Amino acid sequence: MTRPTPEGERESERHVQPEAPAPAAPLLLIGATLPDATTADILIEQGRIAGVWPEGTDGEARTAAADRLDLTGFLLLPAPAEPHAHLDKVLTAELLRSAGGGLDDAVRAWYAYRATASHGEISARAATAAQMMLEQGVTAIRTHVDVGTQTGQRYLTALLDVRKSLLPLLEMQIVAFVDEPVTGLAGANNRAALRTAMADGATAVGGAPYRDADPVESQRTLLKIAADYAAPADLHTDETLDPAAFFLAELAAYVRESEHPYKVTASHCVSLGTQPDDVVRRVSADLAATGIAVVCCPATNLYLQGRTREHAAPRGLTALRRLMAAGVHVAAGGDNIQDPFNPLGRGDPFDTAALLVLAGHLDVDEAYAAVADEARAVMGLPEARIVPGAAAELLAIRATSVREAIARRPADRIVFHAGRMVSRTDTVRYRDDLTELTR
Ligand SMILES: [Zn+2]
Repeated sequence: MTRPTPEGERESERHVQPEAPAPAAPLLLIGATLPDATTADILIEQGRIAGVWPEGTDGEARTAAADRLDLTGFLLLPAPAEPHAHLDKVLTAELLRSAGGGLDDAVRAWYAYRATASHGEISARAATAAQMMLEQGVTAIRTHVDVGTQTGQRYLTALLDVRKSLLPLLEMQIVAFVDEPVTGLAGANNRAALRTAMADGATAVGGAPYRDADPVESQRTLLKIAADYAAPADLHTDETLDPAAFFLAELAAYVRESEHPYKVTASHCVSLGTQPDDVVRRVSADLAATGIAVVCCPATNLYLQGRTREHAAPRGLTALRRLMAAGVHVAAGGDNIQDPFNPLGRGDPFDTAALLVLAGHLDVDEAYAAVADEARAVMGLPEARIVPGAAAELLAIRATSVREAIARRPADRIVFHAGRMVSRTDTVRYRDDLTELTR
């Protein structure tokens, strides 16, 4: 890809993706800048970080036989993870124009379309978006996928195929996002579809209980089904600015009283952000005490919520500061990518981090943690810190600090999954006379 730059320069991006995983030889990363601004050599062995030394010291001598990669000019970070995607809906923005731009309009546009999509179309779009994320540095994705009486298991089947095809490159968790209702007689077929999805290989139970006729019973039903399959649950608990659509206290009470032993995540939590401060403090404490994590999706909820207001529109972000202060795991996801729910998006967690800084008022380190360490914690994945023994899930990005990486979001990125390079993008900049520019 070649594109003009403002200075009359040109730049092109070269993207390389190694084919299949060969047994990874020990790899020494040389001269990488770490988030604390020191430079280090890092040895990766058998999928883990085997050693971290100040640049040019013990590392080189101890690992004379290792393959080497010069990371001078690159910032090395724990790889980001995507804790909330909808890979079944991605890249439909040109096909589907939602009437008003709000959530209900987007749902209507999507529901009218989704019964027509073929297996091949769904899996092709999903694979393309997963690849976009991988190139940005994401090595683990949690995607929701529609399940229910209208579409059966068609979307799950497509996503299972995509997960399998990308297995060497990234980890994918699939949440069976069941249609509502799931309560009462009317919900029987959706409950059955959800159980089929779990039996067929979905990772976690999902749904949108606040859209059910009986939201509290819907939450209980979904957690009971999750318990039957010893699976995590990740619910769209309250993706609305309606203060009355708020059932997080009941969710925490159920987890506490039933001693529910599996991980529970509350996604969006938009209504929580509209509650009075005493309620936010109390419910945040409940969530922390019961280990319920929260995923904020700033891009989609800035786009979808508050559209009826002509000015001073409320932000759809949840109560980030209060949740973090209470000790809740708070991660952030990109959610929708170029579909009726968000016409933009390119699968870059640095875009999500930038929104957390600008609209959520987190500092840059908190923002990156929300799309990396905290995202992995929400997904139940091992920590990916840059210390000996940690999983070698890494992103090298051409920047000198986390702040600069979020500000510039450079394309130049090298991605490591399970200790192996799985994606590399290099940008080459030229003057008009085709002289290559140094950085
Ligand atoms: Zn969602």
